[in-house]
Amino acid sequence: MHAAVTRLPAEPLRLDRLIRASVIHSLTGQVYRCVGLYGDRIAAVSTDPHGLDDLAGAGTVMVDAAGLTLLPAFSDSHEHLLEASRNTLLVPVDQAHSIAEFTAMISAAARDSAPTAWIVTSMGWHESNLAENRLPTGAELDAAAPGHPVLARRGGHLAIASAAALEAAGVGPGTPDPPGGKFERLPDGRPNGVLESGAVYQVAASAPAPSAAELAGAVGSRSGEYASLGVGTIREAMVTLDDLLAYQQAWRDGLLNVRVRPLIRIGNELSTADAIALIRGLGTWSGFGDDWLRIWGLKFVMDGGVEGGALEQPYANDPADSGHLNWDPAVMTEVCTAAVQRGWRIGTHAAGDRAVRTLLDVYEGVVAKTGSLPPWTLVIEHALLSDPAQRERAVRGGFGLTVQHSQLWNMGSEMLVTWGPERTRQVNPLDEWLAAGASLAAGTDIARPFNPMTNVWGMATRGTKSAGIQGPEHAIDVPTALRLYTMGSAALNGEAHRAGSITPGKLADLVAYPIDPLTADLDDLADLRPALTVVGGRTTHDPGKRLAQ
Ligand SMILES: [Zn+2]
Repeated sequence: MHAAVTRLPAEPLRLDRLIRASVIHSLTGQVYRCVGLYGDRIAAVSTDPHGLDDLAGAGTVMVDAAGLTLLPAFSDSHEHLLEASRNTLLVPVDQAHSIAEFTAMISAAARDSAPTAWIVTSMGWHESNLAENRLPTGAELDAAAPGHPVLARRGGHLAIASAAALEAAGVGPGTPDPPGGKFERLPDGRPNGVLESGAVYQVAASAPAPSAAELAGAVGSRSGEYASLGVGTIREAMVTLDDLLAYQQAWRDGLLNVRVRPLIRIGNELSTADAIALIRGLGTWSGFGDDWLRIWGLKFVMDGGVEGGALEQPYANDPADSGHLNWDPAVMTEVCTAAVQRGWRIGTHAAGDRAVRTLLDVYEGVVAKTGSLPPWTLVIEHALLSDPAQRERAVRGGFGLTVQHSQLWNMGSEMLVTWGPERTRQVNPLDEWLAAGASLAAGTDIARPFNPMTNVWGMATRGTKSAGIQGPEHAIDVPTALRLYTMGSAALNGEAHRAGSITPGKLADLVAYPIDPLTADLDDLADLRPALTVVGGRTTHDPGKRLAQ
């Protein structure tokens, strides 16, 4: 049989680039030897290394990728590129290894700023990376930067505020806890500076924000770091309307090195009427934009994370605590129904199994009012914990799920302490979700550049950063993990027809590796880095200058 050539019908076609590689996995089951690019698209593929030679002209750049394996570029289903970018403008305490280093960085930042200026840290740190393995205290932050309000945000759900920061935000002994949030307090009722969920947003609202231009510049350079790890698309899991302006500026100025699919936050601090008015006032709907920047939908947050996640059974380290729910289900059902009726998709953070069950109640309530909805209209983000009945309900309702093994990889040790070993090994059982027939899309939710191949290795081994192997029975194979991370996310983004595989007519989003990840030893994947990345035919990573001609 002669070599199969598949190409766009447009004639005459002269390729911009013709890439010959050792292996080209379409991830639809085809293996090719060369791929031709035209404009931002994959124009043709062939199983013969010379099968596309007659489509090359004088202007065609011939790329010799001998020894490399090409895959579709990764599409992260849930990541916080804007936070990762904003963090580059903040105090880099994610690089501290002890409380002393942490506070020294704050002192240095205070010395470089005006006398009473806010000092705000990067969110990408965790106390497990500090020698003391504890949070810094509000008092330590006050001592590090006397007179400066200091806010040390850790991830999306927790922060430490200095006394000056609490004062600047108008928070005192008489301040009530906000809806879905908590000020930790001393025995006399004064807040001690530890803020949870809604309390984080309340204090952070008083800190000055970087300008849209500064953020756009940071997004540009940060997105280049993601591209250097093989990422082509990021579904940006939570933005404010100001953040959206920064993305538009980055888009207008051609700064984006990855495609972005943002979710706009709808906060539970709003009344039902205000939430619906906000959604109505957006004046747009899901899918608006172009291939580089397209609005995915709206974001709701049902519970906390490893701390604060709403569980069916109490925490392992605190029998009195089983987490918290942010939304009243009836209110959220009403708001979500109004949103869906206006053309919005919805993604809701639900970490614990009680949050997942409550969210299923909400989503089923929406569908009862709207009638059946297209796939990936109502999405569950994370479902770190779930039970078989919940998985069955999600599949029956057509509610897709974004999954992030990198959470278990990163937070496994904390899960062991707060949730206990039994629940930790049951985190994100991808094999059981798939066996139940679920639609899954893989991503990271790490808020910093993270090697997707480490995540693929983790899905295939259940390996973690510092908690060993957790629940090896839930591992999935590498081709499946790669498909969830490419075609799965493309389907989530409503782009299954134009992204996610190496297929003529689809966007030319490619990544190349020096070994074939589908046949390599699993252990060789954990630190495997790409040789090049292409997004929309544009080179976004090419340290070996293979594409530069
Ligand atoms: Zn997230």
